[in-house]
Amino acid sequence: MPDDQRLQACLALLEDLGGGREQGPPPRPEQAHALAAGVWGDTGERTQAVQALCHPYLALTMLWRTLGLGLRGNPHHLRPRDRDGARLARDLLVFLRLHLRLSEKLKGVVDWPAAGLPANALEGDGGWCDLCGQCCCHCGTVPAPPPGVSYPPGWYHALSGEALHFQPFCPFLFQALGQPLYFCGLHPIKPLPCRDFGRADCERGRPTRGLIRA
Ligand code: SF4
Ligand code: SF4
Repeated sequence: MPDDQRLQACLALLEDLGGGREQGPPPRPEQAHALAAGVWGDTGERTQAVQALCHPYLALTMLWRTLGLGLRGNPHHLRPRDRDGARLARDLLVFLRLHLRLSEKLKGVVDWPAAGLPANALEGDGGWCDLCGQCCCHCGTVPAPPPGVSYPPGWYHALSGEALHFQPFCPFLFQALGQPLYFCGLHPIKPLPCRDFGRADCERGRPTRGLIRA
């Protein structure tokens, strides 16, 4: 498949599914399959990609904003935009597979509802945080768990950003249902640097942070 065609197919997938997910539920498998057909020729890759694209916690709108539109939540963690189709398709697949692996392991650690988390169930640290997710758009953090917690081995690698060079955002950033709001999939046991990030740190990054619509 010509690379330019693959790039366009990848961007179309991100825009259609990421844009749709902004206000609604995860995409239907047949919708994701139709768009994935132009991106991944291999049946196994396509099947895995579709499974992740339809997952109720995948931050699909953030994938569109970062990989598709070039949003950078943290200006100190720049990620070049993929301009070639093969690279974008590969990076997206790495991220999608990672999401499936991490979500599967999370089941025994953090108890999220299987069907996804409605946006109105989120509080945003008592109201000051608008759950834009931009503070988690970085290339990795120090994967230091809270006292008494030990993460599964692959999580240290994923949290420090070594699973995808360069990651567009933390792979534990999940998307709520119904509104383009984001939350930490590891929230009850998130790493110490993430726990320490508070209102003053957020405000230092404003006005570029806050609830945005693409
Ligand atoms: S950048 Fe600020 S407002 Fe946005 S999610 Fe992070 S803490 Fe909340
Ligand atoms: S672990 Fe959670 S809070 Fe920390 S960067 Fe990842 S998603 Fe954000």
